Amino acid sequence: MFFVEVIPHWLEKRAYISPNQTAIQLKDKTQISFRQLRQDVKQLAEKLNTLGIQPGVHVSLLANNSYDMVKMIHALTYLQATIVLLNARLTPDELHFQYEDSKSQFLLFQEGLEEKVQTIQARYHNQVVSFQEAFQSEGSSFDVPEEMNLNDIFTIIYTSGTTGFPKGVQLTYGNHFWSATSSALNLGIREEDRWLAMLPLFHVSGLSILVKSLVYGMPVHLHEKFSVNDVHREIMEEGVTIVSVVTVMVEQLLERLQNESYPDSLRCLLLGGGPAPKPLLEKCKDEGIPIFQSYGMTETSSQIVTLSAQDALTKIGSAGKPLFPAQLKIQQESGYDVPNVVGEIVVKGPMVTQGYFEREEANQDTFHDDGWLKTGDLGYIDEQGYLYVVDRRKDLIISGGENVYPAEVESALKGIQGVKDAGVTGIEDHKWGQVPVGFIVRQLDSKLDEAEIMEELQNKLAKYKIPKAIYFVDDLPRNASKKLLRRTLAEWAEERRG
Ligand code: ATP
Ligand code: MG
Repeated sequence: MFFVEVIPHWLEKRAYISPNQTAIQLKDKTQISFRQLRQDVKQLAEKLNTLGIQPGVHVSLLANNSYDMVKMIHALTYLQATIVLLNARLTPDELHFQYEDSKSQFLLFQEGLEEKVQTIQARYHNQVVSFQEAFQSEGSSFDVPEEMNLNDIFTIIYTSGTTGFPKGVQLTYGNHFWSATSSALNLGIREEDRWLAMLPLFHVSGLSILVKSLVYGMPVHLHEKFSVNDVHREIMEEGVTIVSVVTVMVEQLLERLQNESYPDSLRCLLLGGGPAPKPLLEKCKDEGIPIFQSYGMTETSSQIVTLSAQDALTKIGSAGKPLFPAQLKIQQESGYDVPNVVGEIVVKGPMVTQGYFEREEANQDTFHDDGWLKTGDLGYIDEQGYLYVVDRRKDLIISGGENVYPAEVESALKGIQGVKDAGVTGIEDHKWGQVPVGFIVRQLDSKLDEAEIMEELQNKLAKYKIPKAIYFVDDLPRNASKKLLRRTLAEWAEERRG
């Protein structure tokens, strides 16, 4: 049997099919066509070739969203290197760990991030190259690959480290290609589409937009970072049709919108990365904002489950159904897929990684032989097969034999007037085994107290789900991806209890 493993190199192919189409539009409205992109990338690849970057070598990249970063990513594909995308918000020590853990042999970093690379530089001086040095080096020509192998590793991206030490997820060209394709089979591709990328390209959520641009021939509006006014303007004035967002961004956009409404050109706010509080989704629904919940992880090359446009209004709170070539099961105590019964979400599909880089134990715990991946997340499907994500298995609180999902309690807390942010964790309790406690960040002008919160919760939550203590704090502990660190909350709770 003949398997298709090789396709034309995606940038070569795209520059050939639609050379004049805009590939990238920057914040200052500069536009770069696919032809220009290919030229710039080829030139850069020749320079990187001079540095001695060989096929198969692991190259760490440390940068913020910029045209330079885009060129670096594509140029490394011409050299057939594996790109380790480092998170520019990490500390020098964390970066050092990932550099070594990924067995990188080069580090390319953007100007302005010198301090972050100091620890790596001290040890691997010869391997650390700034963007400027790279751009200024002499080029040496090499054969641009006409094809790429779908089984080759394109990127290693570390998980966010929310539940423990980050793990390097290997994603092939095929994983990324299928991720782009499956998203298109759900959202469709329209001629007028322009996708705004201000989520970091070093996360799979941002990078996947860049791949879609190549595969679809679609302009990407690239911003260095999230700014509520800039995103608002892009939607209102620049014809952006799709924006990938996380919850906190939606909250700010809604506030900014006030009495205006978005133009019809905006067809999708693609929401991912974490739980979405229901009150927020309902507010979007009321305001006619096309918000689509999705579920995914680094291991699945971004979204693997997304609510479709048709279902967005009727299945609020659901993450949708698995994308076309993906499969999903709920693994329960005795079997699979009983509707409305919570179990572990397991997934399979061509966008799913084949494994973490050199993590034997994690790989054995995570992957079944037949290709299914255990996500570590809990959820259920309803009678029609729509997924509802409940929480992470590790964060489950068992109180007097009842399951308490912190995300549900947080969602209730966030619905209370005066609450800006909320985090819930479990602590040991001699009577119940574990009990939930809540941490609250109040809105600036709010004098909300514990008694008022408890009273509000009486009608919203069963008694065993109501936090046994409420602590007011200025901020919640979050990692570099802004994800809530519930294990730190547990430490805080222990400290406060004394
Ligand atoms: P680590 O694996 O290192 O602990 P992480 O899981 O936070 O970090 P990511 O790959 O960035 O790293 O995040 C994926 C996780 O985000 C999912 O496993 C899930 O827990 C959470 N998540 C994603 N989408 C949703 C959603 N729609 N609802 C709830 N949680 C979600
Ligand atoms: Mg994870």
